[in-house]
Amino acid sequence: MEYIKSKIRDVVDFPQKGVVFKDLTTVFKDPRALHIIGWDLSQLYRDKGVTKVVGIESRGFIGGSILAFELGAGFVPVRKPGKLPADTISASYKKEYGTDVIEIHRDAITEDDIVVLHDDVLATGGTMLAAYNLVKSMNPKKIYINFIIELSALGGRQLLPADVEVSSLIKY
Ligand code: AMP
Repeated sequence: MEYIKSKIRDVVDFPQKGVVFKDLTTVFKDPRALHIIGWDLSQLYRDKGVTKVVGIESRGFIGGSILAFELGAGFVPVRKPGKLPADTISASYKKEYGTDVIEIHRDAITEDDIVVLHDDVLATGGTMLAAYNLVKSMNPKKIYINFIIELSALGGRQLLPADVEVSSLIKY
């Protein structure tokens, strides 16, 4: 894990002043770090019968795809409005300024699925909560929530449902 940490790039004042952005492109471009990420993420869910990994646009697509591949599960994208081509359901959620909307294909998840929801970074948790509510409305057997990085000081974990297992590889 120290190796992964050493590859994370802190970008100060991005995308706005006061934010320290955890840039994972420097992890993903490193072959050894990418391999470790795939292995460590998948170890969390090896024996859980996961059938779908849901990745949140856009940085959640990278780790989410790797995790799905490692687990032998399918991959499902959650996207910004108007990007998914077929019939969708959507959820809106509050951001610091204004609201945002995310969408998922209506036929993406079934009641037989065991789902891992994945994003790269847990900050305030608003995005993941909206994605959770979308997937929950499709009644899968079980939902897990996963991040590569958790920014503990922002308290995102408290926003997520208390009865859901939330895992992150690295906590700050
Ligand atoms: P949240 O506040 O948890 O809804 O985060 C919104 C989105 O922005 C998520 O997809 C996070 O991955 C991303 N994000 C928020 N804060 C940071 C940060 N400091 N570094 C990197 N990504 C971030």
